[in-house]
Amino acid sequence: MAVQQNKVSKSRRNNRRAHDALVAANPNECTNCGELKRPHHVCAACGHYGEREIVAMTEEVDLDEDAA
Ligand SMILES: [Zn+2]
Repeated sequence: MAVQQNKVSKSRRNNRRAHDALVAANPNECTNCGELKRPHHVCAACGHYGEREIVAMTEEVDLDEDAA
């Protein structure tokens, strides 16, 4: 196991961790359906990006149908 040569002071440790904070997501409203979505991403609810439909949405698929 690697062993550090010098003790890391509380100040140095805390300074290193000053940049470790998580940043909250910043969702936008979809212009098509109004659902919250990630900026610059295709809407997960309706498959639109801006005015265009990128991902064709199908009816809900029942995955348990042939699980026997
Ligand atoms: Zn949408």
